Amino acid sequence: MADPLSQEEFTSSLTRIVSHLQNRHTDLSHLPVLPTSSSISDAISSLPPTLPAQGLGTSETISYLLSSLLPGVLQAQNGPRYFGFVVGGVTPAAQLADILAGSYDENVQVTLSEETISTAVEQRALEMVLDLIDIPRNTFMGRTITTGATGSNILGLACARDYLYAHSPHLPTGYSYAQDGPPSSPTLPSPPIIILSLHPHFSIAKAASLVGLGSSSTIIHQLPAAEDDELAFDLSALEARLKVEKEVGRGVIVVYGAGEVNTGGFGSGLGDVARLSKQYGAWLHVDAAFGGFAGLMPELAPYTKDMDKADSLTLDGHKWLQVPYDCGIFYTRHVSSLTNVFQPPSASAPAYLSAGKPSAGVEANDGATVFPEGTVQAREVTSPLYVGAENSRRFRALPLIASMISLGKEGYRDIIVRNITFARRIATFISQSPYYELLNPTPPSFQVDAVIPSNIVLFRSTSSSPFSPDDPTSSARLVKAINGSRKMYVSGTKWRGVGAVRIAVSNWRTGVEGEGDWEIVKDVLENVGKGEEVKWEG
Ligand SMILES: *Cc1c(COP(=O)(O)O)cnc(C)c1O
Repeated sequence: MADPLSQEEFTSSLTRIVSHLQNRHTDLSHLPVLPTSSSISDAISSLPPTLPAQGLGTSETISYLLSSLLPGVLQAQNGPRYFGFVVGGVTPAAQLADILAGSYDENVQVTLSEETISTAVEQRALEMVLDLIDIPRNTFMGRTITTGATGSNILGLACARDYLYAHSPHLPTGYSYAQDGPPSSPTLPSPPIIILSLHPHFSIAKAASLVGLGSSSTIIHQLPAAEDDELAFDLSALEARLKVEKEVGRGVIVVYGAGEVNTGGFGSGLGDVARLSKQYGAWLHVDAAFGGFAGLMPELAPYTKDMDKADSLTLDGHKWLQVPYDCGIFYTRHVSSLTNVFQPPSASAPAYLSAGKPSAGVEANDGATVFPEGTVQAREVTSPLYVGAENSRRFRALPLIASMISLGKEGYRDIIVRNITFARRIATFISQSPYYELLNPTPPSFQVDAVIPSNIVLFRSTSSSPFSPDDPTSSARLVKAINGSRKMYVSGTKWRGVGAVRIAVSNWRTGVEGEGDWEIVKDVLENVGKGEEVKWEG
């Protein structure tokens, strides 16, 4: 059997990976986005059918991954022309830091301020994300890193549930759902908590189901949109509903999506929604997974500026922040709601996990530096155990902080502005093409001379193309034809009940001058639009 401690084997495998990654770094912009179907079937059939009795050892295993398995995965999901979903990319600093995080393999589990700074790094990374979006650090003292926006939405709804039960007029003040479970009170309305939203992301339904609120249409209600702005709440309808629910003493969670997933668009009125939520005792959860960073583009700042009024806020690290999967970010102003959910009554916490209390020890403050209010010092960090779902997790903060430090605020601003500018260029082209119809709604409050506000282009084909809009399969066929080029990747969706295609621009490389992304995108869209097959040459 191969020697797992062999230095030579490790070094030769590492060298192969280094050179593979070097090539990828240079070639990524010009790799086909998708693998060929034969690469996929070859990779699948190369999989050992059962666990081998004798292992291959490190060197052969790494060769196998590089030569047989990796050709079967997406070749360039983190490349500049993968426009599906909102995937971001990975900055060089984040990519390398992630390799280090895996290599150190530290379990960020409890705070051991005399032994490791990992939780202090996590706090500073979470503070820097607030700095990036101009939210004072002391707004959200409940904070943690999650697996993604879905994980953060679960935390948001769990905190809301805790808070709303504790404040229910039908229950003793401070009722703890986390500890006592569903209450039995004859006066408690059924359902006891509802969600009011506009276009909630699918993950909200998952979160609602997981935290025991339920996810049917009797729990999650779609409110009407403003007459002149389909992405904005109709404020008088919201207020009327909040009033009725307050009268019966039902808990309400208002879920506000900042950045609609099909269009990248923003409604106006987050500040008003926050004011009404507060006035009627509702919990405001803002899901700003990717859209929360759009305000770095100055003209979009009005749509995100009131995120600081949220009771809880979801952001994603692995989308527009360009951090590798998986990394989500969660904030709440109600620290006690978060700890009520995740900190078991002390009696039931096993002794070996009890090192999470703030301990006198390493002080990050050197005495000379003045930190903004809300900065958490190393010795005050709450154990991740008590503010999140996991008991064990990887050091996700390392790639996050590496990316933040390497780019700085202006580096991030450049990416966001470049991505939005690129999306607008595509949208303008689409709006002028005989083969396509642009579907993005633009908020009436949007003062800029651009056909779309943000980074997602939503469109469908017209009857001048071979993908007639009367044919219900046309959008799916159009997506297939575009992706079949392997030069770019888009995803299909439904908008107002009809099939549509979206192009989400969210990668730091996209649109870098001289890289040819625009020419390739235009060429693929033009040729596919007129019915010509675009093939990969090379
Ligand atoms: C992507 C997204 C999610 C889900 O995020 P994951 O990171 O994939 O879990 C939730 N809400 C919004 C608005 C999103 O864009």
